[in-house]
Amino acid sequence: MRCSLCGSKLRPLITDLPFKVSDTSIVILKGLPVLQCDNCREYLLDDLVMNRVEEILQRADAAAELEIIRYAA
Ligand SMILES: [Zn+2]
Repeated sequence: MRCSLCGSKLRPLITDLPFKVSDTSIVILKGLPVLQCDNCREYLLDDLVMNRVEEILQRADAAAELEIIRYAA
């Protein structure tokens, strides 16, 4: 796969990413597999990972300002 912004090669990487789930709450997913561009640092999630992330975020506690969840495939 190539970067949608600059066309450079994407590299698989395990990282932690914050997701805003409402105006007041943020979920940090740890150990998330992403593809990151070597050139511009843009990253993307493949469809399977994105679906899983959406499931996790739906179950996240919307009342918590900050929640940290470990991603597990
Ligand atoms: Zn790029």
